[in-house]
Amino acid sequence: MRDLLALELAELEERILAWGYPRFRARQLFLWLHGKGVFQLEEMQNLPNDLKKRLAQNLPSFPVSLEKTIQADDGTQKFQFRLHRGGLIESVLIPEEKRLTLCLSTQLGCAMNCLFCRTGDMGWKRNLGAEEILGQYYAVRAMLSNKQAVTHVVFMGMGEPLENLENTIRTLKIMTHPSGCALSPRRITVSTVGIPMNLEILFREIPVAITLSLNAADNETRNRLMPINRRYPIEEVLDTLKRLPLPPRKRFAIAYVLIQGENDTLQDARHLVRLLHGLRCKINLIPFNPYPGSTLKRPSDEAVLSFQNFLRSKAFSTHVRFSRGQDVLAACGQLGGDLDQP
Ligand code: SF4
Repeated sequence: MRDLLALELAELEERILAWGYPRFRARQLFLWLHGKGVFQLEEMQNLPNDLKKRLAQNLPSFPVSLEKTIQADDGTQKFQFRLHRGGLIESVLIPEEKRLTLCLSTQLGCAMNCLFCRTGDMGWKRNLGAEEILGQYYAVRAMLSNKQAVTHVVFMGMGEPLENLENTIRTLKIMTHPSGCALSPRRITVSTVGIPMNLEILFREIPVAITLSLNAADNETRNRLMPINRRYPIEEVLDTLKRLPLPPRKRFAIAYVLIQGENDTLQDARHLVRLLHGLRCKINLIPFNPYPGSTLKRPSDEAVLSFQNFLRSKAFSTHVRFSRGQDVLAACGQLGGDLDQP
């Protein structure tokens, strides 16, 4: 039976009705769990005692527990969570001026094996349940002071969200439900390598912001950096993006990890301009974040700047994202989960 924490409101209503209670009890419970982050039955004052007894038999223990917190010099915090079903995952909280962004993991490990990513080294162990993805959010939310609130959520931690489509959509529906976490879909970003059919399903179900992890301007380079490109070549992925019903004035984000000698020349920038012609997008350049065991190199600041300037000269909105939390391996591509264990 699916974990109560992972049920959408309509499913929770079905469960509560089947137990012989009125429908509104489901909304009350949903609000306690997802809206208020209350998981102790004794604190749910408006629920009758006999329902609480029933729930006590059905509410499993909280799906994640904090193993350790590591604070980076720039204020970024990396949280390592132990999953009750086994394994370690990581989430990252990134404070910026007016934002507090939480980066969540969707899989234990990852099968995509991108050359520039430490999570890929773990291999894929299993998909996270929606309750385990939500559990990261609830655990971090509970650690914040009254003055703090997570303003943005990004699905850019360990794993490829579109390879765990059902649980990712389920999580997003609970997160954006007005009686759930009530987050606006505009404040949620799903980052993906681009799995065409799943991208279409996700976007039509729930129009969150999409970041395509592109990282190369030709198939030969992308095949090398991201093996998934052999299955879904660049053109197919970009055609899918172009077909999605993007609201007016919205753009997709294109993530491009710049790696010295791999994809950082002006020739690459030229190809990129040609490739992205006609796609409403902004480009985020991310200088590669080195991690133990990787032989790839970060390009010089000059190379990054020239790449950016070239794209800007062709009217592409282009930003360099210097990843946060690099000193504690919390930056993009540096999450390791089990790899961090002695
Ligand atoms: S970059 Fe993302 S998709 Fe690629 S291996 Fe890392 S976690 Fe997986």
